[in-house]
Amino acid sequence: MKIAIIGVGSVGSAVATAVKNTGLAHEIVLFDRDGVRARAAAEDLGHASAFSYDVKITAVSTYRAIRGSEIVIIAAGANQKVGETRTDLLQKNAAVISDIVPQVMANVDAKNVKIIIVTNPLDVMVMLAQKLSRLPAARVIGTGTMLDSARFKIILSRQLDVSARSISSYVLGEHGDSSVINWSAVYVGGIALDDFCKQTKISLPQTTRNTIEHRVRNAAYEIIQGRGATWDGIGAAVADLLHAIVNDEKRILTVSVVDGVGKTAVAMSLPRVVGAKGVSANLRTKMNSTESNALRKSARIIRKNFDLL
Ligand code: NAD
Repeated sequence: MKIAIIGVGSVGSAVATAVKNTGLAHEIVLFDRDGVRARAAAEDLGHASAFSYDVKITAVSTYRAIRGSEIVIIAAGANQKVGETRTDLLQKNAAVISDIVPQVMANVDAKNVKIIIVTNPLDVMVMLAQKLSRLPAARVIGTGTMLDSARFKIILSRQLDVSARSISSYVLGEHGDSSVINWSAVYVGGIALDDFCKQTKISLPQTTRNTIEHRVRNAAYEIIQGRGATWDGIGAAVADLLHAIVNDEKRILTVSVVDGVGKTAVAMSLPRVVGAKGVSANLRTKMNSTESNALRKSARIIRKNFDLL
């Protein structure tokens, strides 16, 4: 499979490495408006492929060269600087998506291509890319809260002293400050969280839950403070999403796609079934009234930001 990655900065490079390591692509093409950066990334990654899978990795300088790509991953655009929110990137990155998507669409097979959006503010960029591409919503997929859900799971696993792989837990809504931590749908080994805590005599009072929520929502800010940007987590999330699509796994992932039509349409993260055709089902989890109100509010924030464009 040929996969194109547009934008090869910190995130695009990490995504390229993670994609290469899946072994799912026979060819990876890298495009960046900074051609020197793209060529250097392709060279470095090409050397790394000698230690893993045979994959052809090239930097390309025209969109024509992405022809034949079945999946296009967009990781281009400004990232958050210390003190900035994802929403602060809105206008700048809307211009980037508006530049990229028409050029991508002129060179791919619209009947089959899947576009994966990584650029922030994620949900609004998914809406914009879907509108510009005119692809079915199911095939313009944002990584959404996959990373937030992973962060929640890891923090929870440390608190509960159990493997993260035995936890089913979701962060929903915006990939941003209004994300919703779905406590009502946390299961550990198939056991509801409160029951699990009773059985293991682990105390998880509201204050601890508040601290966990804060840590999940502020993880990106803390990482940006310490290393200037985040990239490893999102690279792994894209690779996971790629497995689900390429192997038609029908996995349930909290990705962001446009739901609804007209003025009420919005892209946000819910658990969705992901396979070879993109998203095939949208699911609703158990939620208390606080969570469902927060989810509605999150949807309104995303829609309002989209309407600002
Ligand atoms: P970066 O500045 O390191 O790299 C961005 C790259 O995009 C640069 O190489 C730049 O030349 C390229 N670019 C900009 N405009 C372009 C255009 N019109 N065409 C082609 N290339 C273009 O930034 P980064 O740290 O790699 O972050 C990239 C994006 O990913 C940001 O929007 C960031 O917020 C987002 N991000 C998303 C998640 C997530 O969970 N979805 C996680 C981390 C970062």
